[in-house]
Amino acid sequence: MKTDVFITGGGIGGLTLALKLVSSGIDVVMVEKLTGNQPIYKGELLQPKSMQIFDGLHVYYQVTSNAQIIEVLDLFELSKTLKVKDQSFMDYTVIPGKYNAAYMIHHEKLKTIIFKQAEKYPNFHYYNEATCKAIENNTAIVQQGNEKFQVEAAFFIGAEGRASVTRQAMGIKVDPIKYNHHFITVTFPRPSDLVGGQIFSSYNRFLGLFPLPDNQVRSVYLIPAGDYKKIKEKPIGHFHKLYTDLAPSIDGYVQQLTDWSKIQLMIPIMYHANSYVQGNKVIIGDAAHAVHPMAGEGMNMAIQDADILGELLVDMYKLSSLHPDNLEQFEYVRKERADYLIQLSHLSALAYSFPFQPVSWIRSKTFERIEEDPVLHFKQMLNVSGLGMWKESVRDRFIQGGMMPTRKKNLSVAKKEMKLFSAEDDYPWKWNGLL
Ligand SMILES: Cc1cc2nc3c(=O)[nH]c(=O)nc-3n(C[C@H](O)[C@H](O)[C@H](O)COP(=O)(O)OP(=O)(O)OC[C@H]3O[C@@H](n4cnc5c(N)ncnc54)[C@H](O)[C@@H]3O)c2cc1C
Repeated sequence: MKTDVFITGGGIGGLTLALKLVSSGIDVVMVEKLTGNQPIYKGELLQPKSMQIFDGLHVYYQVTSNAQIIEVLDLFELSKTLKVKDQSFMDYTVIPGKYNAAYMIHHEKLKTIIFKQAEKYPNFHYYNEATCKAIENNTAIVQQGNEKFQVEAAFFIGAEGRASVTRQAMGIKVDPIKYNHHFITVTFPRPSDLVGGQIFSSYNRFLGLFPLPDNQVRSVYLIPAGDYKKIKEKPIGHFHKLYTDLAPSIDGYVQQLTDWSKIQLMIPIMYHANSYVQGNKVIIGDAAHAVHPMAGEGMNMAIQDADILGELLVDMYKLSSLHPDNLEQFEYVRKERADYLIQLSHLSALAYSFPFQPVSWIRSKTFERIEEDPVLHFKQMLNVSGLGMWKESVRDRFIQGGMMPTRKKNLSVAKKEMKLFSAEDDYPWKWNGLL
């Protein structure tokens, strides 16, 4: 079999790329080793940049109508006796324009929406329960049940997540960094008035609540690395109490989980491949980078990779400019942005990783200043949104540290808009003549 682009992995990153390519007439073969909806929890928070990308792919309304909008994230810092002692918030609406909110959507639902849109195109060839075993000499070796088949392609994209066969074929190694904590995570019914994100933390505990549609809420609770087995041996009432101690509003809801079967362990790791492109092979999403989930970026980085690579491949085909060297443009745009978000997520994780009173105090003061200082607030939301990247200055750090007073004057809409990525930032080859 022959195709233009061979994609390993039908996760969010691979599907977004496939939709972008097939809707522009490029022939795509995608192999996905699993079948049907997967019961495991994965990324569910869509940042504003992902919403902009889905708008361009004509699935924005399908996504929003199956998602819970999140405009504000409330942060509650609790005392030793678990009373709220400080409260701050992060507000997506400080971002100008249409894409000024995040959305929570079930991971498998999102995959279905993108898949259904892609399968409308006859040039999308999808094989499930089909595993890419190796890529050799411009040919992918695929195993589907007892059958083995080969696919020749002009380009090979690895969108197969952390254990990446394409990355292996490129000879690229990653060096995962582990954390001193894990998470337990589960979805359960929520009170109907829990409509924004909520984070509860004390000096040694952390609970995140992120509302999903259908009156459900996804939760993440931080535990010391290695404690999962010990916790799971306790009666389910112990789990309920861990949650209701911190968030009394979910009393009566979390108890609807009556055993441990749905409660999943999530082990955060961080790595960044030193290169995304080699010849006609490219890695995207978790194949290229793994990020701590604290800032809700993993799935969004995969979507943003898919958008930039997809646009580049579409232009390469349009201009019959198919030399693999052109793929470097993808790495040029994405690597610095990914690096920044990996660091941002890592720092957010560290802020909650150490069970000491002074860390809790510094954290709540820092969040208070981010809330009070309109420039810091905008920078924070812009950076997590994916719509732009505005790094912190020395002055910002002094303000966060309480060594300089917070600014009072808000930024104008025009100034904020200048900080959003332009089409030229996202797709520079359209302007720099490098294709
Ligand atoms: C257990 C877990 C929990 C997570 N929870 C969160 C969270 O709470 N919040 C958050 O922001 N992010 C979370 N993430 C991260 C987020 O889900 C990922 O960053 C995002 O899904 C990456 O998308 P992707 O398309 O790159 O890879 P994936 O979603 O991993 O998709 C890869 C696909 O490739 C398939 N595949 C793999 N190898 C092959 C092969 N050889 N042949 C064919 N198919 C193959 C896999 O079956 C899979 O469907 C989580 C990740 C994991 C693994």
